Amino acid sequence: MKKYLQIRDETCRVQGCNKAVRYCDIDHTIDRQFGGPTTNVNLSHLCAADHALKHNTAWTVTQTADGVMHWTSPAGKHYATDPATRIIPPLKPPSTKAPHPPDTPHPPSWFDIPDTRNPDDPAPF
Ligand SMILES: [Zn+2]
Repeated sequence: MKKYLQIRDETCRVQGCNKAVRYCDIDHTIDRQFGGPTTNVNLSHLCAADHALKHNTAWTVTQTADGVMHWTSPAGKHYATDPATRIIPPLKPPSTKAPHPPDTPHPPSWFDIPDTRNPDDPAPF
């Protein structure tokens, strides 16, 4: 999950901040104490300054499943920041079921061929 977030974010997720993820914290968009899950859609990188801004001011943020962060300033102005890389999960998970057996009977194997040899007529060698 950490690598996924590094590739998706590349930098701090606040508008105009380009601090590389290696200098950032991974933050829960909705705090864990308020029921925010520890999942890709609720985590993002924030540098220390912007992490403090988020938690100590009236800025609010939401995050969509595609990784877009929606920031709202105390004055009500909206900013959206796109992820550096959009990583879209597959629409349908791959099937884990075994393939359906064919409806036609399989060709005969050597075990299905009747033994027509005459026991009184031994093999020539
Ligand atoms: Zn920042």
